[in-house]
Amino acid sequence: MNVRLVFSLIFIALSVALAVCGLIAFRSRKAIGVPLGRMLFCLIPPVLGNLLIICSTTKLPATIGCYLYYIGIDFTVFSLLRYTLAYCNIPWKDNRFRVFVLSVLGLDVIQLLANIFFGHAFGLECIQLYGQPYYRMIPYFPQQLHRLVVYSILVAVLIILFLKMRHSSRINANRYGVIFFTLLANIVWGTFYVFSRTPLDRSMIGYAVFGLMTFYFSLYYKPLLLLNRIMMDISAELPDALFFFDDAGNCIWLNSEGRKLVNLQGHDLSGVEDRLKPFLERGQGADHWAARMESDGEERKFYVLEKRTIRDNRGYVDGSFLNIRDDTEAQLKLMQEIYRARHDELTGLYTRPWLYKRIQEKLVEASGELQSIVFVNVSNFKLINDIFGIEFGNSVLKQIADALRRFIPEGGVYGRLSGDNFGILMPSAEFDGDSFKSWLANFTVSAGDIDNHVLIHLGVYEVTDASLEVSVMFDRARIAASSLRNEYHTHIAWYDDRMRVNMLWEQQITGDLQCALTERQIVPYLQPLVDATGKVVGGEALVRWNHPDHGFLPPAKFIPIFERNGMIAEVDRYMWRCACEQLAQWRDNDLFISVNISPKDFYFMDVAAELRGLTKEYGVDPARLRLEITESVMISDVKNKVQMLDGLRAAGFIVEMDDFGSGYSSLNMLKNMPIDVIKIDMVFLRSSGQDEKSMIILRNIINMSTDLNIVPLTEGVETEKQYDDLSRMGCKLFQGYYFAKPMPLEDFQAQYVDVA
Ligand code: C2E
Ligand code: CA
Ligand code: CA
Repeated sequence: MNVRLVFSLIFIALSVALAVCGLIAFRSRKAIGVPLGRMLFCLIPPVLGNLLIICSTTKLPATIGCYLYYIGIDFTVFSLLRYTLAYCNIPWKDNRFRVFVLSVLGLDVIQLLANIFFGHAFGLECIQLYGQPYYRMIPYFPQQLHRLVVYSILVAVLIILFLKMRHSSRINANRYGVIFFTLLANIVWGTFYVFSRTPLDRSMIGYAVFGLMTFYFSLYYKPLLLLNRIMMDISAELPDALFFFDDAGNCIWLNSEGRKLVNLQGHDLSGVEDRLKPFLERGQGADHWAARMESDGEERKFYVLEKRTIRDNRGYVDGSFLNIRDDTEAQLKLMQEIYRARHDELTGLYTRPWLYKRIQEKLVEASGELQSIVFVNVSNFKLINDIFGIEFGNSVLKQIADALRRFIPEGGVYGRLSGDNFGILMPSAEFDGDSFKSWLANFTVSAGDIDNHVLIHLGVYEVTDASLEVSVMFDRARIAASSLRNEYHTHIAWYDDRMRVNMLWEQQITGDLQCALTERQIVPYLQPLVDATGKVVGGEALVRWNHPDHGFLPPAKFIPIFERNGMIAEVDRYMWRCACEQLAQWRDNDLFISVNISPKDFYFMDVAAELRGLTKEYGVDPARLRLEITESVMISDVKNKVQMLDGLRAAGFIVEMDDFGSGYSSLNMLKNMPIDVIKIDMVFLRSSGQDEKSMIILRNIINMSTDLNIVPLTEGVETEKQYDDLSRMGCKLFQGYYFAKPMPLEDFQAQYVDVA
């Protein structure tokens, strides 16, 4: 009885386990879940049937147990077949086969149920077991048919598993093999009970255990071997060199890249760690580290390293791995890119940003030693490009670069700032002005047979304030260089602060001009012109600027600037208009106004047309607008200028030659330039009284002009004596502080004009 009780308990436990696992399988999300759950539930009735047979001491429960057992087995084998197909990923497409199997099983079930009425399939006999009655089944022939059906299906399942096992990789075959062999063992075990008719049938224990095993393999089995294999394959194929170490740091595996790296031929891994020493040293024993390194070998190589130590949850080392990536290609490319960003393509010199950075570093290094920033400008580069072409221009720049390489001493840095500008920093003590000068004076570049002089100017800023931005230092050196603008013989200029102040002044005053003209901050002053009798016959219009920020500005403060940048034309046009406006108001007297005409005006406008237009617009007689022109207009384009002056005179204007004697006056000019009045510069009067020679020259100029029919006018008359002397010499017109200083129009009008 004890044995039967024990087995009964085992069967109950197995039934419960099957039910629980079945439920879990149904609820699992895996595709195998449903067929698996179905099979597990189908196993419960035959297990319960077996239980009933074991524990029954009377015939009826044992009989019920037999029906449960046999019919349950029919359902079980069908569900096992379906489960196997699903487990092996074989779709059950053939519907006819399914109908056939179901029909055969259905007939078997009917045949078994018919046994209730006919008793044709099996009967029960009572035997004594452990001192109690036990009902054992007696099979008749139809029962053998049941067995045939069941065994056929079991064999089919075994064949399916076997074939699947044969046609899978070794790693995957395991999961089919386990089920195949367990099922085979069960079938043998069950068969033993069936045919031996051993009392106390325990065959269902094996099937129940089989069911639980399938449960585990279908839902929870992790193919570790498979995972391992996949990992190894991936690692082996990696482009990085990989090394695995055990807890003692011995190499236990390396991939093919790793082999190449340490140059390992055979399978013996001892010594790999030694060959990896240069790499492993980088980590200094840390658990996890990453580093970059450059190899010392002949061939330049760059590596990216990463090492990780793997520890278990108690902190003991499992092992570690080292990953080494060959980064040479990317690194060389990067270095090339950096080189390209730092070096000018044409000349190979540093680019501006990189030069600035290098200069910054140098200035920090060279604290104490005086440094010079040199700005190199090719003055006539645009001309060179225009005349000889870009190719030639480029070769000029390359030759300058070469010269810099030769000239700049060890401690200097230099580069190309932009187009035709180069920059240098060198210790001031090593800046040898003389050798630079001789280089610059003789710097020629040949095009074909012709040697062309290339005009180069250097601006030097001695770094007295190292806290300045490098760009500002170069601005200063550039200002110095630009002071040499049209110089052909001086090549080097040193920056001083006045240059910057002048530059700023120039920029500001230039920016303010338009506004000054429209707001009439700029006004004409008039300085009286007197004849030999002392009568004021006219006035010279002299410009004045009443600047809102800088106060009252004399022309010397701005006229030279505007002459340089061409804006003088704006000023003069405005002054001429003011003069015409004024003359129009003095319609009833003969006073004239002389206006200044800058030589630069001729570049920017048609002076004659402008003047004619203005006199016409205001209805002024051209004879009352006198034109003061310096002889320097005749420097170029003489023929045209003569024609133009003739034209103006023909139109009635009176042309005066201004500042005669102040510049490179030549008497020849008096012959060439068609003029009515000669304004003798005040240089001759400055030393009058003491300087006999000046007086002789004055007298002769006056005589000569009188002979040439040109009216002499002397400016800068400051004393009565000068006036007397000049009058005696035959001078006709006079201007100077002796009579009056330049004054506002209103004052002039109040003093000298009879307004009707
Ligand atoms: P400039 O044409 O030779 O004008 C005569 C300059 O001599 C004026 O200086 C005048 O004030 C000054 N002056 C007159 N008498 C005496 C004297 O007895 N002693 C001394 N020491 N100086 C005397 P300012 O007004 O400063 O003009 C300077 C120059 O500016 C002018 O020389 C002229 O070249 C230029 N300038 C003045 N206004 C204009 C203008 O509207 N257009 C152009 N293009 N240039 C102008
Ligand atoms: Ca003048
Ligand atoms: Ca003058």
